[in-house]
Amino acid sequence: MSNALNVLHTVKPGSPSTNGKAHHSRPDAVLDAVAAALGADRVVTPVGSHTGAATMRLGPNVGLYDQRDVAGVIRPRTADEVRRVVAIVAGSADPVALQPMSTGHNWGLGSREPADNGAVILDLSGMDRVRAIDTTAGWAVVEPGVTQGELAKRLAGTARKLNLTASSMHTSVVGNALDRGVGLLRQRVEDLAGLEVVLPSGEMMRVGWWPSDSGRTPLYPHGLGPSALPLFLQSNLGVVTAAAIRLPPAPEALLVVRLNFTRSHLREAVDLVRHWVSQGLTHGVPKVYDPAAAKAYHGTEDEFLVHVCVAGTMASAEALTKVLIDEAVASGVFTQVTHTDRADPDPDVREVATLVELGYAGQPDDEDALFQAKMRVPADDVDSAGGGFLFFLPLVPFTGEAIAQATELLDRVHETSGIRCGATMNMLDADVVDFVVTMRFSPDDESAAHAHETLDRMYGMFGEAGFLPYRLDVDHADAIDHLSPDPAARRFIRHLKDVLDPRTVIAPGRYG
Ligand SMILES: Cc1cc2nc3c(=O)[nH]c(=O)nc-3n(C[C@H](O)[C@H](O)[C@H](O)COP(=O)(O)OP(=O)(O)OC[C@H]3O[C@@H](n4cnc5c(N)ncnc54)[C@H](O)[C@@H]3O)c2cc1C
Repeated sequence: MSNALNVLHTVKPGSPSTNGKAHHSRPDAVLDAVAAALGADRVVTPVGSHTGAATMRLGPNVGLYDQRDVAGVIRPRTADEVRRVVAIVAGSADPVALQPMSTGHNWGLGSREPADNGAVILDLSGMDRVRAIDTTAGWAVVEPGVTQGELAKRLAGTARKLNLTASSMHTSVVGNALDRGVGLLRQRVEDLAGLEVVLPSGEMMRVGWWPSDSGRTPLYPHGLGPSALPLFLQSNLGVVTAAAIRLPPAPEALLVVRLNFTRSHLREAVDLVRHWVSQGLTHGVPKVYDPAAAKAYHGTEDEFLVHVCVAGTMASAEALTKVLIDEAVASGVFTQVTHTDRADPDPDVREVATLVELGYAGQPDDEDALFQAKMRVPADDVDSAGGGFLFFLPLVPFTGEAIAQATELLDRVHETSGIRCGATMNMLDADVVDFVVTMRFSPDDESAAHAHETLDRMYGMFGEAGFLPYRLDVDHADAIDHLSPDPAARRFIRHLKDVLDPRTVIAPGRYG
């Protein structure tokens, strides 16, 4: 997997602009100064940039979001280089805006695209050092370019594991956590113990917990007094150059119970899974796949599929499995209940079951097989293969009633648009479900426009039901104002932005 961002097209002066908003317009002097400081090979500028008008584009993205006009790409290799870049930008007479990305695999939400036109991409994928790791105390300090596959591999055979997501092994641990991604064990923000941040002034600081020289300071992310760490999640207040990541203990035994049910039992099935979560029977994030999403996991035609992970000591995992299976069978809700798929005679069922269990156990899927089953191409080709693929990520209360309502909204989307979306429900805790909606469409202009209109409508339909998104794609950055419950809280964050970044150096428009 190549780490570097491939910049494909140069847009000649006078090309039509995209639907993003224009930002600073004359970045040449800044890019020249950065090239002088870091080396010319770390800076990509559009052909003819010294005319002051040319921009370039990053190439296709799987979501078919409009490609933004980008003023250049800077590729630092160390935190100190990031600090120097931001200091140069902050100190220049005509500053540019920097959009940081870790590995840029934010597929379905915009991939590498910034929210606004005119930004310079700060591509941190080359900062790929695992700086330190302590499997006794349970942490690793990693840079933005460290992928989840790489970090998970480093933990093989230790008593610790990484909270893997269901995305490609080539995605960034830091980038995903900063966008409040969801792992198989828990939300990735819960893995964040500390952050190293470069502020818009070019100053560097560490927030939350950071390993001490003595190595004896217990891992506690909250610190004393107000904590600054959450200010840098889904944030344009700084560039994160490293994170201290918590590595949870690996359980002695772990297995996944698989259950199938028909749509007519949706409410009861969800309520039963909730009962198990609320009573502490489950490990990690149980998943419910609707029939469209279940296909990649060998789901039965027209049925919903549930994965419930159980873990602990050998004896406790065995006992919990028996309780779950007995309750599931007694409920009469499920058409199939099994925990032995890893020994199934069908090799395909065996393979999927093994990969699902390994994922929950934090062991990387080296071939990205499950990811490729969903996307049909390797991670490297997702953005260039044509698309289209969109995500919509609302939160829904964890009740059978609410999940049924959200599923009915997807029926309405189907009836009115002809697009059948898939849904994967991540049960984050006993109260809230991350209701992941995926939309696939043909990559022609007409289908892409129709899919994006449908996405707009989904923001409205789910919003009216009270099911608000917790992550925004690059086209809906502005939605943050009306989606935030209290305007005073938005004013507070805007005030912080004005104070910390008066010249809008970092990521304008991104959750801004
Ligand atoms: C089939 C499939 C399955 C998926 N499964 C999951 C899943 O289970 N869970 C999940 O959460 N997602 C999932 N995704 C979505 C996505 O691929 C992941 O969230 C991925 O980790 C995001 O890309 P990245 O790690 O390269 O982060 P990036 O794209 O690099 O970063 C994400 C955003 O964070 C900000 N950012 C990044 N780095 C920095 C920095 N250093 N400083 C400041 N801000 C920064 C930027 O705003 C950026 O847009 C899935 C996608 C697909 C296609």
